[in-house]
Amino acid sequence: MYRLLLAAPFLALAAPAHAATGEAVNPWVALAYLVAGVFFILALRGLSSPSTSRTGNRFGIIGMLIAVVTTLVTHDIANIAEIGIAIFLGGIIGFTIARRIAMTAMPELVAGFHSLVGLAAVLVGWAAYLNPGAFGLLVDGGISPVSKVEMGLGIAIGAITFSGSVIAFAKLSGRMSGSPILLPARHVINLGTLAAILVLTALFAMAGPSETMPLIVALTVLAFLIGFLLIIPIGGADMPVVVSMLNSYSGWAAAAMGFTLGNTAMIITGALVGSSGAILSYIMCRAMNRSFISVIAGGFGADASAGGGEAKEQRPYKQGSAADAAFMLEQAEKVIIIPGYGMAVAQAQHALREMADLLEEKGVEVKYAIHPVAGRMPGHMNVLLAEASVPYENVFELEDINSEFAQADVAFIIGANDVVNPAAKTDKSSPIYGMPVFDVDKAKQVFFIKRSMGGVGYAGVDNDVFYMDQTMMLLSDAKKMVEEIVKALD
Ligand code: NDP
Repeated sequence: MYRLLLAAPFLALAAPAHAATGEAVNPWVALAYLVAGVFFILALRGLSSPSTSRTGNRFGIIGMLIAVVTTLVTHDIANIAEIGIAIFLGGIIGFTIARRIAMTAMPELVAGFHSLVGLAAVLVGWAAYLNPGAFGLLVDGGISPVSKVEMGLGIAIGAITFSGSVIAFAKLSGRMSGSPILLPARHVINLGTLAAILVLTALFAMAGPSETMPLIVALTVLAFLIGFLLIIPIGGADMPVVVSMLNSYSGWAAAAMGFTLGNTAMIITGALVGSSGAILSYIMCRAMNRSFISVIAGGFGADASAGGGEAKEQRPYKQGSAADAAFMLEQAEKVIIIPGYGMAVAQAQHALREMADLLEEKGVEVKYAIHPVAGRMPGHMNVLLAEASVPYENVFELEDINSEFAQADVAFIIGANDVVNPAAKTDKSSPIYGMPVFDVDKAKQVFFIKRSMGGVGYAGVDNDVFYMDQTMMLLSDAKKMVEEIVKALD
């Protein structure tokens, strides 16, 4: 999300910032952009750890302020009033959406905003193509081949980001089924379309001024199409990688436009967004035991049915009450809490923190275990736990805590499902097969909070943990259940 915000203002301001006609860049402007870039790097460094993230955020704000003010005061800006109106209107819309949006709808909002970054890149590219003089791109009465390559790539990446993000938005918000949509020979179609885009870019670069229009139109249409084709086959539990990948694409789109427009700030921020998004995608692929290449190619994990189905079998399970859970939690020496998407839906993090505090007062050791894809966006659980002031030192990543379940008295699963599903280890036909999951079955007792036995996780598959001997199902809204446990503990 933050990386996205880095790039967006430059796309908005980029066109007027380069409205000069081939003049050398003012060294003070270049220096200011460089300083801003250093602040952005410091910001990303700060954001890499929860304890330094606030400082990181401040660095980001300072960097952004320097960059935006520099862009605004640059003499190149043609019409500051128009920019002011655009910023005002965009600001009002952004402010209203951000205030209204529920925390649970954040992932689709991020996907929606990515689509805007992509669209902005396409529009800036087209504006530069239609009016090269205003962008300082006219050389001997035409656009140079190098500029046209940059323009073509920027438009292509922007269009892919746009249509891919629109599909991701539709899938994440439930407007479109999360199940993979598989076209026959999709890999051949995708590769063919990508090759066609590259060939069209080359032809566009070499073509004379009168021949370029059909080429750039075809390139834009095909790029919109490939974004759509790349994302529709991805389903099941694989959307987190898609979200971070689209984030990365939006950065590369901005960087490509930065080259077209000769705007260093855009190149720096675009490259930062693009590379950090790519690194995050790689980390998430590793966390989910997926191949990076197959995700980029689209449609991996698509052979199993996935996304929002119902648990099919009715098997015996044990159900308990808040009082039962409170009694056993008090007796425990070590409790590991595994939060998931349902905790976000219920907004149960504050009640959970209260429960953990009460248990700690009673001498119980409490730890939180966070899966890299828990929730619906990278870092979702970390943000919620930080909001409830859960101490960072009690929060552990999957690989750091998974070996501790064997010593835990209670694994307390609150609104998580896929991330504790043993089918990921045992069932080759499962859409989540291969994804590392928490070894909750090793804990002496498992509490599983969810609203009903019918509901499934994002991947849409049944979970054997419900039916284990040591599992007690606590069927209720997560916040309500934890509040009742807190009352019983008091
Ligand atoms: P899941 O989606 O697997 O499960 C959510 C669970 O929460 C369900 O069991 C649901 O059951 C329960 N639940 C929902 N609402 C409530 C409520 N109000 N109170 C109590 N329980 C509730 O969540 P996980 O976090 O375990 O897994 C995340 C999944 O989402 C993974 O498959 C991941 O790949 C995918 N994903 C992750 C993204 C990311 O970036 N982190 C992005 C996109 C997808 P019930 O309905 O019965 O209550």
